[in-house]
Amino acid sequence: MLIDLRSDTVTKPTPEMKEAMFSAPVGDDVFGEDPTINQLEKMAAEMFGKEAAIFAPSGTMTNQIAIKIHTSAPGEVICDELSHIYKYEGGGIGFNSGLSVRLLKGDRGRLTANQIEENINPDDVHLPPTQLISLENTCNKGAGSIYELNDMQAIAQVAKKHNLPLHLDGARIFNAIIEKDYSANDIGQLFDTISVCLSKGLGCPVGSVLVGDEKNIKKARRIRKILGGGMRQAGILAAAGIYALENNISRLKDDHNRAKAIGEALKNASFVKDIMPIETNIVVFYVQDNTTPEAILEKLKEKNILAVKFGPQMIRMVTHLDFDDKQLDHLCKTIKNM
Ligand SMILES: *Cc1c(COP(=O)(O)O)cnc(C)c1O
Repeated sequence: MLIDLRSDTVTKPTPEMKEAMFSAPVGDDVFGEDPTINQLEKMAAEMFGKEAAIFAPSGTMTNQIAIKIHTSAPGEVICDELSHIYKYEGGGIGFNSGLSVRLLKGDRGRLTANQIEENINPDDVHLPPTQLISLENTCNKGAGSIYELNDMQAIAQVAKKHNLPLHLDGARIFNAIIEKDYSANDIGQLFDTISVCLSKGLGCPVGSVLVGDEKNIKKARRIRKILGGGMRQAGILAAAGIYALENNISRLKDDHNRAKAIGEALKNASFVKDIMPIETNIVVFYVQDNTTPEAILEKLKEKNILAVKFGPQMIRMVTHLDFDDKQLDHLCKTIKNM
């Protein structure tokens, strides 16, 4: 039994999801003729109360498209220093959009309205014009931390006041929604564009969607084509997305419960120095000074458990669709015996 907690991207499509993919009607999506992609885009847009959506191969692409459509160099994007758009998209903000980045230090990846407002540049020739605010919910590097609705509302007000577009990297937005008392529609009211990953906790093999208004999504189609993301009979992939949105959202709660159980096991482990608060499906912990993440990862690997180093002295484990209670039990016993 291999227990792979390196990421929630490691999930494999279930037989039911494969069946949905197998029977999906398809067409050439660059001509707008793939009925299954059209259905997924409509479905995603409606969930968030938006006019339109676009399907893309990855969350990196939907984020990078969003940054591109909202800005025009020279300019600056405001985001947290832990943001995926900054840390893990290969320098795409500079490469694709030619922008500088105003990196702010938030609370486990979460910014406040005041903090953002203080960092909007005044109209001064020395300064890059602030052109975009981008948030991440849940924040991966913040150990799956969640924004409260009122904090996002306050930020949306600041964005509106300064006439700035607001983007959400909602790679794991449904993990936030399942824990909090807000809906996809509530989120849709606040952001101009939202990127949602289907290939993380929702269990699809491929794909992300970007939702927004007609005008922005029309621009997004142009950018997606330039980036090489115009796919043809990709309805077989979109079918997995439809299946996931219909079947795999509420079960995210199980992933969260299992993550909390891992946290309990780690609390008593001698090799653990500290654990970041566990809010969703991401567990991040610090190992003791007398050991290293590499040494702990090696010991886990001997027991068929995979996790990743997540910074100096840090290890990350992510729970997902292919991690069940039996595996959880084995993991907790292993941790206890280490
Ligand atoms: C995974 C992820 C993305 C997109 O990643 P892809 O691997 O390109 O699909 C974007 N933002 C966050 C926070 C993520 O965790």
